Amino acid sequence: MKNENYEVVIGLEVHAELSTKSKIFCSCSAEFGGEPNTHCCPVCMAMPGALPVLNEKVVEYAVKAGLATNCKIAKNSKNDRKNYFYPDLPKSYQISQFDLPLCYEGYVEIDTANGVKKIRLTRIHIEEDAGKLNHDTYRGGSLVDLNRAGVPLIEIVSEPDISSVEEAEIYLRKLKSILEYIEVSDCKMQEGSLRADVNVSIRKKGDTKLGTRTEMKNMNSFKSIVRGIEYEISRQIEVVENGGKIEQETLRWDDVAGKTSSMRDKEDAQDYRYFPDPDLVAIKLSDEYIENIRESLPEMPESRKKRYIEEYKLPEFDAKIITSSKHLANMFEKAVVVCKNPKAVSNWLISDVSRILNEKELEASEIPFEAEYLGKLVVLIEKGTISSAIAKKVLEEMFENPKDPAMIVEEKGLVQISDEGAIKEVVLKILANNPQSVADFKAGKDKALGFLVGQAMKETKGKANPQMLNKMFYDSICTNI
Ligand code: ADP
Ligand code: ZN
Ligand code: MG
Repeated sequence: MKNENYEVVIGLEVHAELSTKSKIFCSCSAEFGGEPNTHCCPVCMAMPGALPVLNEKVVEYAVKAGLATNCKIAKNSKNDRKNYFYPDLPKSYQISQFDLPLCYEGYVEIDTANGVKKIRLTRIHIEEDAGKLNHDTYRGGSLVDLNRAGVPLIEIVSEPDISSVEEAEIYLRKLKSILEYIEVSDCKMQEGSLRADVNVSIRKKGDTKLGTRTEMKNMNSFKSIVRGIEYEISRQIEVVENGGKIEQETLRWDDVAGKTSSMRDKEDAQDYRYFPDPDLVAIKLSDEYIENIRESLPEMPESRKKRYIEEYKLPEFDAKIITSSKHLANMFEKAVVVCKNPKAVSNWLISDVSRILNEKELEASEIPFEAEYLGKLVVLIEKGTISSAIAKKVLEEMFENPKDPAMIVEEKGLVQISDEGAIKEVVLKILANNPQSVADFKAGKDKALGFLVGQAMKETKGKANPQMLNKMFYDSICTNI
């Protein structure tokens, strides 16, 4: 492959649904889901004569996002109409912002293999979401659901500063973590709360002019974004290598086929015939208003990470993973209050808890049990009530049945066997059944001891105290020598 002759250039337009209670221009609920067309009123259904009124929270949340990403905040801004026709857009225009976005010229810092890199943000503007078309494959035709029409969005536009698929993923994760920290969006990608238009181009190494880009619309999982970018890079390189030219176009990523296909030629701004929305007043912000929001910003991931390294003595690796999610970080702090063992809590969070979240495709915010219960789980291990092997099972159960781990241990009879007599009984039985392993151990094969302990664990369904088993096997065999 001739990949090394090319440079990759990526710019992302990230849409985040804001977690306000009501929609951007009316008082309908902005909550996700609901029976079709139940969160609607004349404004968001575009009845003639219905007038929009801007939700003040939307401005506050957007400014918050701007400040958290080092943007300048426009004291004078406005809403514009972006005209286009699509059946999920009842007014035939979207209220958005054109030349005066609320936030501009920011940046997000990402940790890459080559150190910290700044990804510049062109702008963050506010706009309304469109409705949803449900294609009815049985009866034919499409049904429109306007519950989502008018849900507030911010669009975060990056400069084309991203140079690889890895950087794109790190940038997106960082952005998601920032938005979660400032609590302006729940960022649930599977519900479409966070989605990205991904612009990709390539150019010969050393070229200063940008190549022609293609844009993949509405990508809403990390996996598809990564696959989509990888696909586009090789497709574009192949076109150019074969003497072809990249067409600027809008693409649809097909996750099943693993390919992009053409949606339409690229529109330009002039196709949208932007003009200021005459139904809405201009947005004017005072310095005091902006400063108040700046002061309300919570501790961000970077400084929390530093604090975890100093205050809790966590390794940087742990601190980084935990603080990348506000939910994980909050859970960590609460669990540590209970068990006073930061490293143990951190180990559970970054290994087993993260693994289960991955398997179940859940977000950290969807962990069903209380943080205190994780702390209690650590205490149960430290007190010797359960072994770490059993604790893993208890944790799995806590995801199914979010109860106090002590209760789970009690109900399922998982208390560790630390009674000397009971352990002795098991040890004798296993020794009698495995003379070969006993001989092996005597002959110096240390591994044989592990095997015997394993058998005893199996026999007791993981409940025997492993330290006691080890010692007793060792003593029994060695005193018999
Ligand atoms: P539009 O809104 O019409 O898609 P913009 O000019 O706002 O267009 O740019 C959208 C995104 O495309 C930005 O994130 C920008 O960084 C990115 N972009 C622009 N040119 C290129 C390019 N040649 N290669 C990759 N990304 C690009
Ligand atoms: Zn409404
Ligand atoms: Mg675009």
